[in-house]
Amino acid sequence: MDDKTAVPGREKLAAAREDAVGLREKAVDVREGTVTTRERKIRAAEAQGASDDQISMLRQANAQLVIATIEAHTLAEQVQTAQADLDHLAHHDVLTDLPNRILLNDRLTQAIALAHRQGKQLAVMFMDLDRFKHINDSLGHAVGDRLLQSVAQRLVGGVRHSDTVSRQGGDEFVLLLPDIEHAEDVALSAQKMLTALALPHLIDQHDLQIGVSIGISIYPDDGHDAETLIKHADIAMYHAKESGRNNYKFFEQDMNARAVQRQSIEAGLRRALERQEFVLHYQPKINLLSGTIVGTEALVRWQHPQRGLLEPAQFVPIAEDSGLILPLGRWVLREACLQARAWQDAGLPPITVAVNTSALEFRAGDFLQYLRATLDESRLEPHYLELELTESVLMRDAASADSVLHALAALGVKLAVDDFGTGYSSLSYLRQFPINTLKIDQSFVNQITSNPDDATIVSAVISMAKALRLCVIAEGVETAEQAAFLLAQHCDEGQGYFFGRPVEAEALAILLETGVSPALPH
Ligand code: C2E
Ligand code: MG
Ligand code: MG
Repeated sequence: MDDKTAVPGREKLAAAREDAVGLREKAVDVREGTVTTRERKIRAAEAQGASDDQISMLRQANAQLVIATIEAHTLAEQVQTAQADLDHLAHHDVLTDLPNRILLNDRLTQAIALAHRQGKQLAVMFMDLDRFKHINDSLGHAVGDRLLQSVAQRLVGGVRHSDTVSRQGGDEFVLLLPDIEHAEDVALSAQKMLTALALPHLIDQHDLQIGVSIGISIYPDDGHDAETLIKHADIAMYHAKESGRNNYKFFEQDMNARAVQRQSIEAGLRRALERQEFVLHYQPKINLLSGTIVGTEALVRWQHPQRGLLEPAQFVPIAEDSGLILPLGRWVLREACLQARAWQDAGLPPITVAVNTSALEFRAGDFLQYLRATLDESRLEPHYLELELTESVLMRDAASADSVLHALAALGVKLAVDDFGTGYSSLSYLRQFPINTLKIDQSFVNQITSNPDDATIVSAVISMAKALRLCVIAEGVETAEQAAFLLAQHCDEGQGYFFGRPVEAEALAILLETGVSPALPH
């Protein structure tokens, strides 16, 4: 096969066209035959002294017959081409012209049968582009489509003639490598794909960089039929994504167990929303100079009916992947605002309540509207609400983030950059966005008294925040030494086990009553 895997339907198309050409030639022969016979008849008639009228009638009839024959054959040819086109369409993806799911299934089933007979192995690679949705959302579908075409071309260019590259839909591609000797060969191919895709794609003057996560399953070890092999490659792909994206993972049996657990958590999350199984815990934020509680961060927990109290790490990522973070986030926002207001109504000193906001929530079209409605309902003044956003939320979609951030700032809601230092903030963005606070990530704070590099980074971030006139808070403060270091560096606020763990609303009310943290750095 010369034209590789992207165009196998074209083989059929070509064959159909050849048939059509053959038929046309035959038609020409028949026509010529008919014409010759007729011509002979006309000549015979002439020879027999037929009248001019008779001869002209014969000639006219002959001409009409020729036209009718040509038309009939043209029609037949068109029908055949249309059928071949339809057949091609049914088995190929319109955007990339790659084989689609159906054709891949056919080929995989055939390849499995062959591998079975020959006692050989084959591999299935499940690929999903990293953060493709983001490019689609920010640069538009036309750019997204062209990026998919460019990716398709690179994939086809990177495989052997005998391999199949298919598009499953969206940003998912499945490759069939029917001819492998060792698993290491597949690892090499996967690595080759990662390298090929890592080069930027130039589309509409955008230099687009896109990573891909690859999951691999091998026949016969990981499954005996097409469906199982694809499913297992998909599960392995998921693990590749989880372990940092832009890499590949081979399927392992225990991934299955984890996938099942994930599904059960997802189903459980839906029920939990209906049954109100979530609770918020509140962790105090302390002004390092005065030692008073100036704010609190709302941290969600899931009171699971069987598994007890679950931490966000056990369910927030799943909620984000499944979109359930939207209703969950709304619940958290409303609950936190109502609670902050309830503390104030109880006569406690007013403090800011901070709510973590995921990218998906922040980008939802009705985010601002819901936020306004929630502030109205709870009667909480906007400056007592703070949203904690991660650097990636801000930087990834800077243009659209910008307008939402300014609308929030105009409302009076405070904005903090969470986990600062772990992402890739650009200084100019920090100046452009109406940010109030930088939260230094706990991974730096952890080591400030033992690792000079981290101490330097933390000092630098504090100086930078000061220069930009931002408030700066350190999270994950666990020891008196860390607190003392931060105070010496003029860090404004601190949060961490040293000052107080996240606690239920009633327990935080007791802390608020006394007004100071249980532990003080001085
Ligand atoms: P985060 O926003 O950076 O929250 C701080 C995390 O550090 C919390 O973990 C907190 O309990 C923990 N922590 C606080 N002080 C210390 C300390 O001194 N040492 C150590 N080792 N850890 C400390 P938690 O509650 O497990 O939350 C983890 C993450 O889950 C949060 O990180 C946040 O990104 C996310 N999250 C929590 N609640 C929500 C929510 O309502 N919505 C969304 N979208 N994400 C949430
Ligand atoms: Mg946070
Ligand atoms: Mg954080």
